[in-house]
Amino acid sequence: MPLSASLFFTFDGIDGTGKSTQARLFAEWLESRGHDVVQCRDPGSTELGEQIRSILLTHSSLTIGSRSETLLYMAARAQLVEEVIQPALSSGKAVVSDRFLLANVVYQAHAGGLDAPQVWQVGAFATSGMQPLRTYLLDLDVELAASRLKGDADRMERRGTKYFEAVRNGFLTEASQQPDRIAIIDARHSIDEIQLAIRQDAEKLGA
Ligand code: ADP
Repeated sequence: MPLSASLFFTFDGIDGTGKSTQARLFAEWLESRGHDVVQCRDPGSTELGEQIRSILLTHSSLTIGSRSETLLYMAARAQLVEEVIQPALSSGKAVVSDRFLLANVVYQAHAGGLDAPQVWQVGAFATSGMQPLRTYLLDLDVELAASRLKGDADRMERRGTKYFEAVRNGFLTEASQQPDRIAIIDARHSIDEIQLAIRQDAEKLGA
């Protein structure tokens, strides 16, 4: 079976849409169906990836240009694919990742000014062409997503609503260009309703 057809699922969307919640429930469901499941987050889930994650996501005075930032995400992802995702899929396990390459394209290109096809290209190198079978894009109004973050709302406020509107639109643009790979999930519904829609889709894919 080609790796692209393996059970590799990713969850994406702006913060506060419920990605992590849905990814966790989805992994539990896969396990209940008899799959060995590896859960990971991008960036992260390797020693190198976690160190890069702390450079990228901790509030610090470090100057990081948008190309350097993109390449740091790519380096973390390359390690994640090599060390975690590829071995898991090769041994027949399912993989559920909280974010993946799509987020890099959307944040650094659509919202950050870089060229989206170029970021996809660098991504193809970083991941050795590894692509998820399906990405669940949790889509939600930016203000609503921010309100779900509660104490963590400063994550959103730091960059402003306009920026996150651009991110949301970037995700929707990519989804419209790759309808077979990226499923848009209406994140306004309850956690259970959303999970059900995701499970129904994954079941059709043979999960
Ligand atoms: P993300 O990973 O996208 O940032 P989380 O899964 O961490 O989002 O969820 C952010 C917050 O919103 C959590 O407090 C979570 O319990 C809550 N939440 C998640 N999904 C829903 C939903 N469908 N409706 C209401 N609240 C939700």
